[in-house]
Amino acid sequence: MLAENLKQVEENIEKACIKAGRKREEVTLVAVSKTKPVSMLSEIYHCGIRNFGENKVQELCEKKEELPSDIRWHMIGHLQRNKVKYVIRDAFLIHSVDSYRLAEEINIQAKKINRIVPVLIEVNIAGEMSKFGVSADETLQLAEEIAKLDNIKIEGLMTIAPYVEDPEENRPYFQKIRKLSVDIAKENIDNVSMSVLSMGMTGDYMTAIEEGATIVRVGTGIFGARNYTIS
Ligand SMILES: *Cc1c(COP(=O)(O)O)cnc(C)c1O
Repeated sequence: MLAENLKQVEENIEKACIKAGRKREEVTLVAVSKTKPVSMLSEIYHCGIRNFGENKVQELCEKKEELPSDIRWHMIGHLQRNKVKYVIRDAFLIHSVDSYRLAEEINIQAKKINRIVPVLIEVNIAGEMSKFGVSADETLQLAEEIAKLDNIKIEGLMTIAPYVEDPEENRPYFQKIRKLSVDIAKENIDNVSMSVLSMGMTGDYMTAIEEGATIVRVGTGIFGARNYTIS
């Protein structure tokens, strides 16, 4: 069943790439496996998936222990400063940096293990009260501040678009963050790359790809609905 789901997602990604005139290699599929058991991750791993996304530090670290070491673990959830030290070794990319204080803590912990940790700045592109992330207006300034930290490297931007029935409703938000990323890239800030754009989830990843996503984060579309009451 998971293999079938994945095949469908892969086909959709390819369709969106063709429509947008982009190469399939430009888009990385991150399988969002939060709340799902290791057996399901393993199944998808054997279908060829090497990028997994988790939103809780403990869950990410526990699953990493049990699965092959060539998996790239993406930390996509809100990160508390006191948890940074536990995830600093295990995260391939932290998608959810939304304050200087968090970046500072990542820098401290990264220095301790002599690593330069790649991060994305999370932007609350629709200005939703319920969402984490810095506002579009504050993003450039935050990037400039974080750029001065030695053991952290900004690779791009991430956003969680609003939950909508029709993905077309999110197209303007994807366009807006894409433009923001281009504008920041033009500033040529030392130590800041804008090569990654992490946007698009099960409901809207095809639209996100059409608007320039380089990472899509798909959970439900691969693993099925999440049941938070039993997990
Ligand atoms: C849960 C989650 C996803 C995946 O959502 P689906 O709608 O299940 O595809 C993507 N990004 C983040 C940050 C998430 O927390």
